[in-house]
Amino acid sequence: MTQRAPSPVANVATLLVRTAQRWPRLPAVAVGTRIRHDYATLAARSHALAARMLDGGLHPGDRVVLVGRNGAGYIETLFACWIAGLIAVPVNAKLHPNELAYVLGDSGARWVFADAAWAAALPAATGVERVVVLDGPEHEAFAAAGMPVAVAAVSLDTPAWLFYTSGTTGRPKGVEITHGNLFAMGQCFLSDVAGIAPGEALLHPAPLSHGSGLYLVPHVARGALSVVPESGGFDPAEIATLVRAHDQALFFAAPTMLKRLVAAATLAHDDLVARLKGIVYGGGPMYVADCRAAFAQLGPRLAQIYGQGESPMTITAMDRALVAAAMADGDEARLASVGCAQTGIDVIVAGADDRALPAGEVGEILVRGATVMRGYWRNPDASARALANGWLHTGDLGSMAGDGFLTLKDRSKDLIISGGSNIYPREIEEVLQRSADVAEVAVVGRPHPEWGEEVVACVVARGPQPTGAQAQRIEAALDALCLAHIARFKRPKAYVFVAALPKNDTGKVLKTVLRETVRTKPPAS
Ligand code: AMP
Repeated sequence: MTQRAPSPVANVATLLVRTAQRWPRLPAVAVGTRIRHDYATLAARSHALAARMLDGGLHPGDRVVLVGRNGAGYIETLFACWIAGLIAVPVNAKLHPNELAYVLGDSGARWVFADAAWAAALPAATGVERVVVLDGPEHEAFAAAGMPVAVAAVSLDTPAWLFYTSGTTGRPKGVEITHGNLFAMGQCFLSDVAGIAPGEALLHPAPLSHGSGLYLVPHVARGALSVVPESGGFDPAEIATLVRAHDQALFFAAPTMLKRLVAAATLAHDDLVARLKGIVYGGGPMYVADCRAAFAQLGPRLAQIYGQGESPMTITAMDRALVAAAMADGDEARLASVGCAQTGIDVIVAGADDRALPAGEVGEILVRGATVMRGYWRNPDASARALANGWLHTGDLGSMAGDGFLTLKDRSKDLIISGGSNIYPREIEEVLQRSADVAEVAVVGRPHPEWGEEVVACVVARGPQPTGAQAQRIEAALDALCLAHIARFKRPKAYVFVAALPKNDTGKVLKTVLRETVRTKPPAS
C-alpha cells in the first residue's frame, strides 16, 4: 500500500466497520459455546467505548494498556482504541508486577483496561489516570452507551499496537506495529496461511496480547467468529468442547501447546477432528518428531508461521497443503523448516555485511516488507541497529535452501561456541526429542575454562524425575542416540534432569533462565 494523507480507510478499525455493514447479524464474539455479540453489536460497542475514551480526555496517539486473561471485552477494547486513534498496548498477563510497571512507565499509558485480578494488583505508575476493569460494570456501561464516533483518520505508518518484546536479555522494547503493518499481516495470512470464509471460527486459547490477538485482523475482516474460552486460556478438554460447538475452527498455538494438546488427545475422534479447520503453530521450534505425532492425530490441518514482534506473525509460512505434502513425501528438510517467505516479504540469510549468503550457509535472517515495524518506541538507537541498511535484523540464525525454504537454527544469543565450533542447540534437541525417555528438552551452553562453553541438555523425563542408576541409564541411551546422529563434539557433556522447562506466557523456553540453572546445578549423575 502506498502512503497517502491520513484517512479512516488506513485505520484497521475500518475492517470491523465494513464487516458490520456487510454482515450485521453474523456472530462476531462468543464466550465458550455461547454467542455474545453479532457484528453490528460488536461495532456499536467498540464505537461507544471509543467515544467514552475520547470524552474521558484521551487524544489520538495516547497509549492504552490492556492486561488480563482473554475475555470478550478485550476484543472490543482493542478495536475501540483503533477507532479512537489510540495506541493499544496489550501486555502479557503473566508479567511480574515490576515488569508491568516498567511497560506502564515506558509506554506512558494514560488508561489501563485490566482484568479483575490485575486491577486489584496493578503496580503504581505515574501517568496512569484511570483503570477500567475489563468486562466489569464500568466497562459494560461504557460499551452499552452507544454514542456515534467516527473512525479516526490515521496514516498507514501510525502506530496501532505497541508490542513489548519479552526482554529476556535486558529491558523489553516496545515494537511500534502500525496500521499498515496490521493490514499487511492480515493480507499475508489470507494469501499464505489460510483463506477465511464468513462464519468460520477463530478460537483464542493463546493470549490475545500476542498472536491470537493479531489474528483478529484478518478474521474480523472476513466475518469470522472470535471464540474466547471460558477459562480465558489453554485447556485441551475445553478446546474439544469449542471445536464441537463451532464448526471450522482455527487457532494459533505455540508448539508447546500443540504438543500438550496432542498428548491429551482430546481432539482424537474422527467426527471431532473433521470439524477442526486448522491449527497454526509458531513462535518457537516445532521438532520433527512432534510434528509427525501431531499430524498422525490431526491430519492435514497444521500450518506453521515464523514471525516476531518486529514483523508480526509474518516472515515465512508453510500452509496446511505444504505441511501435508512434506509429510506425505517424508521430506525431513521441509518438515524441519519454517516454510518460505510470505507474499511481498523479502527474506535473506546474510553474513556480517548484510549481503545474502549462498544457499545452505548459516547466517542472520534479515527481513524487508510491509509487515516490518516502524521502529522501537522512543528508542532511536535500538531502532537504528535493528533496521540498519533497510533490513530488519531478526537476531535469528538460519539457512535458506535453494528452493526458498528457510530453516531456523537458533537465536544468535543461544548459539553455543565450544572449542571454536558453532553448535546449534536445536540440532541436538531434534535428536534428543526422538527418545521415548524424553518428554521435553532444551540445550544450552555453560561456561567451560578450556572450551569456552560446553553443551548441557536440560531434560524433562517422561514419568517421574530420574535419579541415580535410572538417570545414568537414560544418559547413556541419550548419548548413544547422539553418537548415531550428530558429530561427537556436539554431544551434551552433561545432562540435567528438571521437573519442567521454564517458559514464558507464549510457551517460549526461557534459555536465559536455564543457562543460570545449569551454571549452578551439577549433572544428575
Ligand atoms: P516474539 O517476538 O516473542 O514473537 O518471538 C519471536 C521469536 O520466536 C523469533 O525471532 C524466533 O526466534 C522464534 N520463532 C518464531 N516463530 C518460530 C518458528 N516457527 N520456529 C522456531 N522459532 C520461531
